[in-house]
Amino acid sequence: MVATVILGMLCVHLLCFCVMFMLISRRLHGKKMGMEVFALGNLLLGCAYIMQLLGGQPGWSLISALNHTLTLCAPVTYLLGALHFFNRPVPVLRPLLAVAVIYTSVQALVQWTLGPEARQTLLAASCALLFLGMASALISGIRSFAKDMPVETIVLALLIAGIGVLNAVKLAFILQGGLEALNMNSRFQTLFYLYMSFLGTVIPPAAVWLVLRRLTDELSAMAAHDPLTQLLNRRGLLNRLEQHFAARNAAPAHILIVDIDHFKRINDNYGHKFGDMVLCHVAEAIQKSTRKNDLKCRLGGEEFLIVSLGLEAAEAMGLAERIRAAIAQIEIPGVSMYGPIRCTATLGVSAAFMGVQAFDHQLALADAALYRGKKSGRNCVQWAGPEDASGDKPGDQAGTTLTV
Ligand code: GH3
Ligand code: MG
Ligand code: MG
Repeated sequence: MVATVILGMLCVHLLCFCVMFMLISRRLHGKKMGMEVFALGNLLLGCAYIMQLLGGQPGWSLISALNHTLTLCAPVTYLLGALHFFNRPVPVLRPLLAVAVIYTSVQALVQWTLGPEARQTLLAASCALLFLGMASALISGIRSFAKDMPVETIVLALLIAGIGVLNAVKLAFILQGGLEALNMNSRFQTLFYLYMSFLGTVIPPAAVWLVLRRLTDELSAMAAHDPLTQLLNRRGLLNRLEQHFAARNAAPAHILIVDIDHFKRINDNYGHKFGDMVLCHVAEAIQKSTRKNDLKCRLGGEEFLIVSLGLEAAEAMGLAERIRAAIAQIEIPGVSMYGPIRCTATLGVSAAFMGVQAFDHQLALADAALYRGKKSGRNCVQWAGPEDASGDKPGDQAGTTLTV
């Protein structure tokens, strides 16, 4: 009786959350994060439990056969939903239909050749294997697809493993005591459905939390990055710089400002779209020429900013020169009959500074140095600092153009 009441409550829970997942998926335009697949999983499991309530006895009947097929298809659907959530969009309906057809045929075969006990054993064994497999896949995914949410993934894997273990215990009981083990009044069935209803209560809000987390992570990443080049934008750069200077023993920083030469001509001659492609190539050249912990940003238009961390002045000038050379080597084929398109850039390099409050001042100085570079012929690197940037070589004064 208790197990039956719990089962009824569980059905209501599953179907309510099915509607909720559906509503959430309709609000998520584009990437639905598996919400519509989870809704389907809830619907299938809810229907399976309704069949169980209607069917009563564990013997063979159409309702019981349907119950078994739906009970197995539901975790398969959750698995497919999890793949969608972790950015692996796989087909859902066809594989699900295939599982349903195959499992219905197999259970019918088992029923007629080995009897009802074997059919119940098959379901318990399949569910145990499926849930334990899902749990171990999640645990192993912590290093790859789920590395941005390890704690949540471990908790989810443990909860799912719990269903696997309970199905394994059910299997053992059926093997030991036959169909009597499935009596809804038994203590084990009460425990089984108590655990399932606990999961039915805990997992749907947890899924909503995971989606919310993903959404807010994506929103803050979008707010901090330039959509064209995927480099940081000004806001993202300042946040990261603040984090850097908040650390004890933070290393000093240099600003390298990069401006593509005669970019307007590229736009005018080959179109804005091609100009965008050039911006992406320049961003890639900057990425490749810098270290992982340097901060790389598209300031706007055809201007880029690199904040190198922990370099000496001469090293910062060396880095700027490498970036300049890498940009000069870019070749973009396809639009001109005169061969690949090339571009150059002029760079201004600031003196070392500490603290975000010094950023604007140093940026203005680096920009002024850049302007001098433009005036002196472009495709060069200019030092903005008050003192020698490269040791004690004579002539390397503030504003000197490095040899190009
Ligand atoms: P200089 O060598 O003096 O820097 O000349 P320039 O032509 O590079 O500089 P100018 O400031 O005259 O022109 C910059 C051009 O960049 C003008 C603008 O249309 C273009 N631009 C700004 N943002 C974008 C963008 O997102 N995509 C493309 N394709 N062009 C852009
Ligand atoms: Mg400019
Ligand atoms: Mg320019």
